[in-house]
Amino acid sequence: MNRKPRTEPYLLLLFNYLHCRMNLSKIDNLNYTNLKKGYEGELQLDRLADKLQSELFTLNDLLLETNNTEFQIDSAIITQTAVFLLEIKNYEGEHYYESGRFYTINKQEISNPIHQLNRKETLLRQFLKNHGFHLPIEPYLIFINPEFTLFQAPINKTIILPTQLNRFIEKLDKHPSKLNGMHNKLVDQLISAHKKKSSFLKQPNYEYKHLQKGIPCLRCNSLLQSVRGNKVVCNDCGFEEKIESAVMRCVEEFMFLFPDWKVTTNGIQEWCGVVESKKTIQRILNKYLRATVQGRWTFYV
Ligand SMILES: [Zn+2]
Repeated sequence: MNRKPRTEPYLLLLFNYLHCRMNLSKIDNLNYTNLKKGYEGELQLDRLADKLQSELFTLNDLLLETNNTEFQIDSAIITQTAVFLLEIKNYEGEHYYESGRFYTINKQEISNPIHQLNRKETLLRQFLKNHGFHLPIEPYLIFINPEFTLFQAPINKTIILPTQLNRFIEKLDKHPSKLNGMHNKLVDQLISAHKKKSSFLKQPNYEYKHLQKGIPCLRCNSLLQSVRGNKVVCNDCGFEEKIESAVMRCVEEFMFLFPDWKVTTNGIQEWCGVVESKKTIQRILNKYLRATVQGRWTFYV
């Protein structure tokens, strides 16, 4: 049973919103690409884990803290006898392993995923101990991408290569499991300790006045849209969306990017750029949000 479904991490969502409204720096762009790729890999594993029939709990994307140290878990699967700690890597292409280190085929060393996993295992063990749980941890490093090759791979039972993935899931499903109240308590503890946002987040700087206004196309992200009747139509790819859903997407985005700002008809009209009728914006805001009047101003929550 999936007790904590995965949602897009804060930073990925932020980049999703910002990248069509401003030019991201080279580093931010690289970071964005890696985050997207990592998230796709995690979703791929979720699809496999969803097929598990055995009695177990799955928790995805946990951000925890123990002894003042933050750590993130891609997936934790709780069975009767163990916590499976899964670190998922969506690496692609040819890599090789030599003297305990990982390299791309171009001899570029990459940060050692086994060390990352070991660190997380230690921290999770401390977390469990601090909260009075004594389930053993089984750590696994999962290379999810079928296009990934690791030459000279070590014979290491914690590493699961793409060709071993189905067998790994089958083995997990055969793991004897009967969950009880302790497992439930553990899951509740993990979910309540989950932090929504990392304290060490390196997020790009952005300012309202520097962001391009408009409604990003759902299909191609272009801000070049026209309003036709009750639809917005992308001038680049022709994709059509109901104006209500397009405006509400922009409201959601506005609230995410500027959480301390008030949502007003004028503000949203400017943010959406393309909707000329103030009445249309007002009607949509009134339909989906609650209007609050403060003096001369009406804003929406
Ligand atoms: Zn488009």
